[in-house]
Formats: sequence, C-alpha cells, structure tokens
Amino acid sequence: MTASRIAIELRAVSKAYGSADCGPPVIDGLDLRVAAGDFVCLLGRSGSGKSTLLNLVAGLDRPSSGEVQVHGAGPAMLFQDHALFPWLNAGENVELALRLRGRAKVDRAAEVDRLLRLVRLEGMSGRRVHELSGGMRQRVALARALAQGSDILLMDEPFTALDATTRSLLHAELIRIWTDQRLTVLFVTHDVHEAVGLGSRVVQLSSHPGRVAREWSVGLSYPRRSEDPAVRTLTLDITARLQEEAGRHARP
Ligand code: ADP
Ligand code: MG
Repeated sequence: MTASRIAIELRAVSKAYGSADCGPPVIDGLDLRVAAGDFVCLLGRSGSGKSTLLNLVAGLDRPSSGEVQVHGAGPAMLFQDHALFPWLNAGENVELALRLRGRAKVDRAAEVDRLLRLVRLEGMSGRRVHELSGGMRQRVALARALAQGSDILLMDEPFTALDATTRSLLHAELIRIWTDQRLTVLFVTHDVHEAVGLGSRVVQLSSHPGRVAREWSVGLSYPRRSEDPAVRTLTLDITARLQEEAGRHARP
C-alpha cells in the first residue's frame, strides 16, 4: 500500500445561513481529512449540520469561512430520496448521467448494462421508477452516481427510508462496491448501528455548532454482525458518547 492520499480536506470550515451568512453558525471551526479509500461514517443528531457539511463537500454550497478541498473528479452524491426522474426508466436514468459526462452513444448501452449488473439489477433496465421497490430505486440511484465516474461517493442517509432487511442487503452491496471500485465514501447517518456496520472510520459531529467531537478507527472485518462482541462494545461506546453529547443540550 502506498501512503494514503488525501481525497477530501476541510480546514477550519464554518457555515452560517441567513443574509450574508451572518446567522448563528451551523458548522464552526470544523476540520476533517478523508484519505482516499476511506469509508467515513459521519454520525450526528438531526440538525447537527451533517447535510450542510456534505453539501459543502459536494460543492452545492460554499463555506462562510475556511477551506474545502476535494481532490480528483467532482464527487457523486446520493440522497435519502433517490431523486430519479420518474419519466425515464432505470436504464435511462443511468444513461443520462453518462450522457451528461459526454460519453459517446456507442459506449453508453454497454456501460449502463455494466453498472446495472454492479448493483445487481441486470434485466431491470426497462422498468419505470414506479415499478421498482424502494431498495431497487436506491440501487438505480447508486448506479447513476457511479455513472458520474467519480471515485468519491457522498451519501446522505441513503437507506434511512428502507426497511431493515433491505437496508442490511444494501449495506453488504455497498461494502462490496466500495472495495471493488476502490471508492472513497463519506456517509452521513444518525444511526450508530449503521455507522459501526459500515465505516472504516466513524466521526461524531457535535451540534450547536457542528464540529468533529470524536472519532473512532474501526479495524473490524466485514460483514460486521451486531452480536459480535467487538461490534457490540464499539456500538455501546459510541452510543454513550452520543448520549453525553445530547445531555449537553437542554432541548431533546
Ligand atoms: P442534519 O443533516 O444534521 O440534520 P442540516 O445540515 O440539514 O442538519 O441542518 C443543520 C441546521 O442548519 C438546521 O438547524 C437547519 O435548520 C439549518 N439549515 C440547513 N439548511 C439551511 C438553509 N438552506 N437555510 C437556512 N438554514 C438551514
Ligand atoms: Mg440531513
């Protein structure tokens, strides 16, 4: 292994909303470095600024102060709501991303097939969005994100709306794709179990203002089972820290 290259770097980042960014800062003095190949789970309460942070990394918004650097091609983003175009079928949704990237028409059909196979949706190309289950829609959204050709994937609570069985299936698929495609993943969640199940690092974001409170390096192999003592110990430790953080705030 070569020394790890930095994929994402945030230095002293602050973000406030309101006119001229002069409201109370949502994020203040946040530092975070993500090495290429990391799977970082960003864990924080609702309203702690997780989506704000991801939007800054995606370049969808600018920090009020500080620096956000993303090395490599622009990152691909996956949202909680799949955000697929309902008037296009599964294959066309993926193909659109290839077309926007300027991929030649002759290559596109084979690439759509390859990406749908990667997310285990072979043969589903002609399905309309409304004919797909929630899990399948997120698979299409993942294929579309990968079609953007970035090796950085930003995920904003992408599986929150899914049932537990579908979610754990997609966790396994995501780990397989992360490993195979050598991606760097920044994954936002408010679920400790999800963070411990997926991350090579778990980063706790404090709230009011949001900044890195603590982080854990997770050297456990996949798949991680919740009944595994090491997984359970880490989950309890992180949960205790989150409760401690919640206790700092008067309002629940
Ligand atoms: P999280 O994703 O952790 O739930 P968000 O980043 O969505 O948190 O929001 C953090 C805080 O910033 C919340 O108080 C939210 O109301 C506020 N906020 C988020 N986006 C905007 C916006 N575009 N304009 C004003 N306030 C916003
Ligand atoms: Mg959010």
